[in-house]
Parts: sequence; structure tokens; C-alpha cells
Amino acid sequence: MNKRKLIVGNWKMNGSLAANESLVRELLAGIGQPRCEVAVCPPGIYLAQLQALLAGSPIELGVQNVSTHEVGAFTGDVSAEMLKDFGVRYAIVGHSERRQHQAESDVHVAIKAKRALAAGITPIVCVGETLREREEGMTDFIVKRQLAAVIHLNGHCSSEIVVAYEPVWAIGTGQTATPEQAQQVHAVLRAQLKGVTEHADRVRILYGGSMNAANAAELLAQPDIDGGLIGGASLKAADFLKIVGAAA
Ligand code: PEP
Repeated sequence: MNKRKLIVGNWKMNGSLAANESLVRELLAGIGQPRCEVAVCPPGIYLAQLQALLAGSPIELGVQNVSTHEVGAFTGDVSAEMLKDFGVRYAIVGHSERRQHQAESDVHVAIKAKRALAAGITPIVCVGETLREREEGMTDFIVKRQLAAVIHLNGHCSSEIVVAYEPVWAIGTGQTATPEQAQQVHAVLRAQLKGVTEHADRVRILYGGSMNAANAAELLAQPDIDGGLIGGASLKAADFLKIVGAAA
């Protein structure tokens, strides 16, 4: 099936007003008319700045998190509807750093996906196994369990999500899954989606985990790899643009 690939930069907790501006200016100067879809996810505090900088450009705005709640007495939270006010198109949910450091469970992640979808924001649902889980042969079980929670709560809307397979052992480590390892897990996730939606082929399944300018083309050539979620390499305009260029 012919669908546009999606390349997403996850800036994590990096940036400043000045650094964001110069990164975006470099990206816009070099991006031209990309053949794939492109988005960046800055820290939430900079949404207004990024909304202004990206206005009218081919780069869309994403966020790194969304509240499980709709509105009310939830100090420190930001709702999906508020994000929508700032033109947010994508919301990363269930990133392994949040699962690990903020104790986010599969159920939290599923509810976040639901809140995003209800506000017209596409959730990028992250799944992935730790090194130990891989070594114990549990990779498929773990990623299927993580995705099942989202499918269970979101039913037929499951075809509206983006999935990101991010092996935890590959995130920020410089150690990338081989294209074959990644493709194998992506095929498992695709098959799982096929069990619940006839539109599984149009769901984009991104790979994330030390994707960079040198390895992107080979990963993106795999039949079930529909794009990338990029951490470290998204902070360097030249590297990020090369990855965008590799996504036909
Ligand atoms: C990420 O955090 O989503 C990620 C893929 O990071 P990195 O590219 O730095 O491994």
C-alpha cells in the first residue's frame, strides 16, 4: 500500500527559545518539499513559539505527552483540547522514558491515546522491549501487550493511530536494531492490527532507537517500516534533514 512515510523528531527535554529558533530556521532552510510527512515534538512549554515558527511550513507540530484527563483539578497537566488550541497534530504517548520514570502503565497510555483521538490529535503510541526482555525471548509478548491495551480501549479508532516500535535498549544508546530485527517486530505489530481493523495496512508503524543519517535508508526500506521517531539526531538539523531525505 502506498502511504507517505512519517518522520518525527522527539526533542525530549532539550532546547531554549534561542536554540529552537535557530534549529527551526535551519530545518526550514533545507527541507524544500519533503516526500514524507515531517513533525517535531518540542518540550510543551515552547508550543506557542514553535506554532509561530512552523506556520505555513511543511513541518507539523507534535508533543511528547498528553494528560489522561479532560479538564479540571489536575495540577501540572495539559489536556488534549489545550494542545489542539496550539495546532498540535501528533502526540507521543507511552514513550519508554515516561513508562520508566513517570510510572506510566499500559492503561495510562491507552487513555492518553483516547484523549488525543477525541481531540483530533493523532497519538504516536510507543511500544518496545528492554534488553532483558529481548534476551528472554519476550519481545513479541511485550509489544503485543502494550499495543493490545490501546486497541482494547480505542476499538475501531485503532486504525487512526501511529505506532512507534522503540526497543528500549536502542534508545539513546547508539545501538540500533538491525533492519531485519526491526522488520520482524513491525510485522508482528501489523499482524496484530490486522486482527482488529481492515485498515491495518494504512497504519504507520515507525521505528525509533538511534536512527540516524547513516542507518535511516536501510531501516526505512523495510516493508513494514513506515517512518521514524528520532531522538538525538533530531536536534541536529543536517542529520534530521538527511533522515527526511531518506524517507521516500
Ligand atoms: C526516542 O527517544 O524516541 C529515540 C528514538 O531516541 P534516539 O533516537 O536518541 O535513540
